Amino acid sequence: MTGKFYSKENLHFLLHHVFPLKDLCERKMFSHHTVENFDMMLEAADALSVNHLRPILVEMDRNPPYLENGKIKVHPKMRSLMKTFGEDGWISMSAPAEFGGQQVPFTMLQAVEFIMAAANYSSMAFPFLTNGAAHLIESFATDELKQTFIPKMYAGEWQGTMALTEPQAGSSLSDIVTSTVPTSEGHYLIKGQKIFISCGDHDACDNIVHLMLARIEGAPAGTKGISLFIVPQKRVNKNGELVANDVSTAGLFHKMGYHGAPIAHLMIGEKNDCHGYLVGEAHKGLSYMFQMMNEARIGVGLQATSIATAAYYNSLEYANVRLQGRKLTDKDPAKPQIPIIEHADVKRLLLFQKSIVEGSLALAMQASRYYDLWYSGEGEEKENNFLLLELLTPVVKSYPAEMSILTTSAALQCFGGYGFTKEYLAELFFRETRIHTLHEGTTAIHGMDLLGRKVMQQNGKATMLLVQEVMRDMETAKQFDVLKPYCDILGKKLMKLQEVTMHLMGNAQSKGAEVFLSDASLYLELFGILCVSWQWIKQVTVAEQLKQSNNKEYSAEFLQSKHLALQYYFEYELPKTEGLFTRLKSSNHLTVEAKAGEIV
Ligand SMILES: Cc1cc2nc3c(=O)[nH]c(=O)nc-3n(C[C@H](O)[C@H](O)[C@H](O)COP(=O)(O)OP(=O)(O)OC[C@H]3O[C@@H](n4cnc5c(N)ncnc54)[C@H](O)[C@@H]3O)c2cc1C
Repeated sequence: MTGKFYSKENLHFLLHHVFPLKDLCERKMFSHHTVENFDMMLEAADALSVNHLRPILVEMDRNPPYLENGKIKVHPKMRSLMKTFGEDGWISMSAPAEFGGQQVPFTMLQAVEFIMAAANYSSMAFPFLTNGAAHLIESFATDELKQTFIPKMYAGEWQGTMALTEPQAGSSLSDIVTSTVPTSEGHYLIKGQKIFISCGDHDACDNIVHLMLARIEGAPAGTKGISLFIVPQKRVNKNGELVANDVSTAGLFHKMGYHGAPIAHLMIGEKNDCHGYLVGEAHKGLSYMFQMMNEARIGVGLQATSIATAAYYNSLEYANVRLQGRKLTDKDPAKPQIPIIEHADVKRLLLFQKSIVEGSLALAMQASRYYDLWYSGEGEEKENNFLLLELLTPVVKSYPAEMSILTTSAALQCFGGYGFTKEYLAELFFRETRIHTLHEGTTAIHGMDLLGRKVMQQNGKATMLLVQEVMRDMETAKQFDVLKPYCDILGKKLMKLQEVTMHLMGNAQSKGAEVFLSDASLYLELFGILCVSWQWIKQVTVAEQLKQSNNKEYSAEFLQSKHLALQYYFEYELPKTEGLFTRLKSSNHLTVEAKAGEIV
């Protein structure tokens, strides 16, 4: 097996033609870049992944972090890797030059994350969490805090985290109780506990910098009383030395996958000596944290896609070499057995994976582009791209996450009984991707965010903008006869989506919030399928344009395979929306009406 874990050709196709990076280089914010230097960065990310990340994937899985004398130990290579991630500019790549960064577009950051997560998901969690945490400090903290923390974080010497979850406050962040009191010396004293904190303690860095949500004594209840603090594991004293900051590790969670990254249970301020530094204004913490959470949510969808992509190529390779059985039309036992890829059901398992992973990757790139157009834009364009990004974020987070569970399972299925063993990587990918529907908000929370908030935001402006985007892309697609029928189908489905949305809004008015949002996860699934259908039309339009212009960058097989995947998606996945439409329009609200005691 060659160990191919992603397709360079596909990533190039997306970044050069479907969502051209060239356009971004024409914007002032990114004008110091060229597509050539982006290509060099992608090559460097590939080399790091092939030579350093992928070779320790299995080792990291088989040797998970452990707790020794109150300190979490991780794979020994992570220390030198963090140094490399820092020194070679991977952690700071999206930061402005004043912080030593290269100010690359978010799309590039995501492309690099995609490659590294496909190689070894756990290992890339360390640098990219640090990137998000440092970016949060960059956006909202004082200059003094920026100077203290950002250089060390971007250098890979200090780890960044996001510390939200508490035992009683998982999905419900309004129930956070970690408390803080101001002191006359400018810092706050913090007390509480945080659980499930990714990279919350380990020995690959000299310090851990928690971006922590907590409540200032006397703050209003609920989300309006939450503030954001920097809470380092070690603080810098007056002499510039690092000293313990009363943050201790009470435990380490033993997970089903994603073994290489430690998830810590932290006790904060048990000795009443934990200093925290307020970021921005008091009580606005959750709104600041949303910057990191929203970036991380696009990242989660993308990382699910990365793992699913690695599983796809792994199973594709196996399906081409594993010989088993003969064609139904040719059962002669004297004839040699055929590769399993010749069987229709194995082709189905592979096309299912391809149509979802390439569709999800395109959707993640679409959201990343909205991010860049918002971040580098001005006026109405900026505002519209922000709305589009906001609307797509729960979809980009959740659809790939949910589907990657099914596609990695399909990959495993291709291996038959061997898929259930540790002989191959299929079982690892299946375990590895399971986290993505859970962290950064469960699918249920994102469903409610989409239907309950985003769809009708500003009287439905974001939804209207998205429909305009899809219609515009379909107009371009209709220049090609081969795409016309698909555009007609998607156009009809969009009308039905509108009907269902109006029906649900009616429920909100007449039957109340509980009925309105009871099937929000299904609405999210429906929305996801329609968005990925759009991305398939968009990709095949570009493939047709490239064929027409006699472009020689891509193999004929590659361009043809885009057609095949589009067909598969429209024949096998899109029809699933009919069941969802029926369910969402039903007046039977059994999940609301059923009493908890009736489910036995
Ligand atoms: C590996 C891993 C890494 C993590 N990393 C971090 C991290 O770095 N930082 C951090 O702060 N947290 C982290 N988390 C925590 C993660 O974000 C939470 O686990 C997640 O938000 C869910 O919270 P919970 O586990 O308390 O589940 P609960 O909130 O108890 O949810 C349990 C179930 O109930 C459902 N549910 C809950 N409320 C509702 C509702 N109102 N309506 C409908 N359904 C509902 C959920 O969808 C879910 O199915 C991590 C978790 C894991 C497992």
